[in-house]
Amino acid sequence: MSENPLQVLVQTFEKVSYSIQHHLSSFIDLHLRPASSGKAPIFSISSSSHKSHSLKDDSFVQPIDVLLKAKSATPVTKEELGKATWTFLHTLAAQYPDNPTRQQKKDVKELMGILSRMYPCKECADHFKEVLRANPVQAGSQAEFSQWLCHVHNVVNRSLGKPIFPCERVDARWGKLECEKNACEVVGSTSFDEK
Ligand code: FAD
Repeated sequence: MSENPLQVLVQTFEKVSYSIQHHLSSFIDLHLRPASSGKAPIFSISSSSHKSHSLKDDSFVQPIDVLLKAKSATPVTKEELGKATWTFLHTLAAQYPDNPTRQQKKDVKELMGILSRMYPCKECADHFKEVLRANPVQAGSQAEFSQWLCHVHNVVNRSLGKPIFPCERVDARWGKLECEKNACEVVGSTSFDEK
């Protein structure tokens, strides 16, 4: 029995369309998102975009977000984690207020304490506990906190045989974030806070 030419045309179009999506997915995966980059996908083809098609076997077509998830499971190294954590801490110190509230001082001390208990590298956390014991957090002002942090980072640097950072250059290395309308201000206080 001869097939309806329109149906054949539609089926052919569907096959070509899914083949293009498949190759596009592979291209994006290979060229735009190296597995180790740790960056968010530049864009993705939604998994819902192919759900309504009528091809019987769609196993060869995987949505790009599924493929990217599988690749992003590359483990983070201790060095990457350390660098990212120091970046967060020094950026926080640069944004810390000159006249912090009592709550902000309390929060920053708690943050360091929590880091020394929950940092996901046991040897680092244990060592940092000792560092904090010998160097209690000083966070009376932005300058005090950023200098204290520079000092404890240097204590860790020394123990790892890394170069000592000149703390008088900390503001040049970790400047304030550029944000419009105070969007990067450290909040952390409530209306009940007193200075
Ligand atoms: P990092 O030390 O990560 O520093 C990042 C950047 O900060 C540097 O490139 C430099 O520009 C700048 N910098 C360096 N020193 C200072 C400073 N004193 N003040 C301001 N800026 C500075 N790793 C271990 O192997 N063992 C540990 O016990 C351990 N403990 C850690 C405890 C904590 C709380 C943290 C956050 C990390 C710890 N790490 C530990 C990781 C380690 O400190 C490094 O982050 C990691 O080895 C990567 O080092 P890096 O050379 O890339 O520079």
